[in-house]
Amino acid sequence: MRVAVIGLGGTGSAACRYLAKRGHTVVGYEQFRVGNDKGSSYGESRAIRYGYADSFYTHLMKLAYRCWDELEAEANEELRVRCGSLFFGEEGNAFLRKTIQALDAEDIPYELLHKVEVERRFPAIRLAENELACYQAEGGFLRATRCVLANIRLAREYGAQIREHTSVQRLIMSREQPIVVTAHGEEAYDRVIVTAGPWISKLFPELHLPLEVTRQQVVYLQIARHPERFLPGAFPVWIDTDRLIYGFPQDGRVEGVKLADHHLGESVDPHSVNRVVDESYQLEMVAYALKRFPDLCDHVTYSQVCLYTNTPNEDFILDSVPNSPAVWLVSGCSGHGFKFTALLGKLVALLATDSAEIEPTLAAELRAIRRRFALKRFLKPFSE
Ligand SMILES: Cc1cc2nc3c(=O)[nH]c(=O)nc-3n(C[C@H](O)[C@H](O)[C@H](O)COP(=O)(O)OP(=O)(O)OC[C@H]3O[C@@H](n4cnc5c(N)ncnc54)[C@H](O)[C@@H]3O)c2cc1C
Repeated sequence: MRVAVIGLGGTGSAACRYLAKRGHTVVGYEQFRVGNDKGSSYGESRAIRYGYADSFYTHLMKLAYRCWDELEAEANEELRVRCGSLFFGEEGNAFLRKTIQALDAEDIPYELLHKVEVERRFPAIRLAENELACYQAEGGFLRATRCVLANIRLAREYGAQIREHTSVQRLIMSREQPIVVTAHGEEAYDRVIVTAGPWISKLFPELHLPLEVTRQQVVYLQIARHPERFLPGAFPVWIDTDRLIYGFPQDGRVEGVKLADHHLGESVDPHSVNRVVDESYQLEMVAYALKRFPDLCDHVTYSQVCLYTNTPNEDFILDSVPNSPAVWLVSGCSGHGFKFTALLGKLVALLATDSAEIEPTLAAELRAIRRRFALKRFLKPFSE
């Protein structure tokens, strides 16, 4: 089949690779360069973990981890850093309790640690007496930009044509052969897959997708002493489940260590975003970090603005478009979708091309996934 993929972030790049590998004729469109810092998939780190307060996602991660292993083996480079993940919060915190329940439900091993054990094993971290932590060894982080670049490198090797700096202006829907319109002209395809992240609503004005694009900020703080305490192995990916602040070990690429607030920032239009991190935000992150990690200092070594594309309940959308079954979209990856992009790219590639090649483990899960990520759940009136 001739397939267009519009938007080459985490999801679109994975879809291109799967499609091209299966022998389809693939054209990938990216409005900027591949690996750009304007979409949501740019950066040195995205957390990967089984820990979710909803066991549906913990279960889905079993499939997603397999996809990342496949990509790493195929690309022959380290894309996932295995440093463990640590959730902590006040004992009784609902998010922590539900996460532990989800890990139990899916038989994923973990350890519960109190302050003394956490500080012995991870000497850079300070917990309060009334805080409890859940450590999960398979947690870690994905080198996000490198994952996108690896997918596209492989897609090209399998024969995909990648058109960078080529914005898709609109789609002409059709039951048979939808048409992709760019400044260079119009092209018809057997299937079109749209993975345009924060810009996706512009390509489907008639659907009124209930997506909110928010401006999120990230800072890296300088390490003052004991840099060895912040290396993967000595320092996990961490999430404070009370404050919804999270962070990473030293990633070996950017000076300092990264932390960010997961609360939704202001609503923005992706075409006109203030890309400079607020001074007040930097001060907030410094104040938090100096208490939690006393070996850090208040110097911001790097900062970045990034975009979340949120659905009302943070579930993803993966479906074909009503009355245009040849057009598929994946969206609403919200603030937690990167770890699933390899899986979502694979799923949409298989579903859009009516592939009979779905392996039994995936086929068994497909009905639940399709129901949960169905577009109709998100079209007005929104219902759970
Ligand atoms: C600060 C931050 C921290 C995050 N942390 C985590 C985390 O720790 N773990 C996790 O799992 N997830 C995390 N996420 C979420 C995750 O990064 C996103 O959900 C994911 O990257 C979304 O990928 P995507 O492929 O849907 O979109 P994107 O990566 O945004 O890709 C969309 C691409 O489409 C292109 N495009 C758009 N419109 C057009 C057009 N008309 N024509 C051509 N090209 C077009 C864009 O230029 C872009 O490159 C985080 C996100 C942010 C912003």
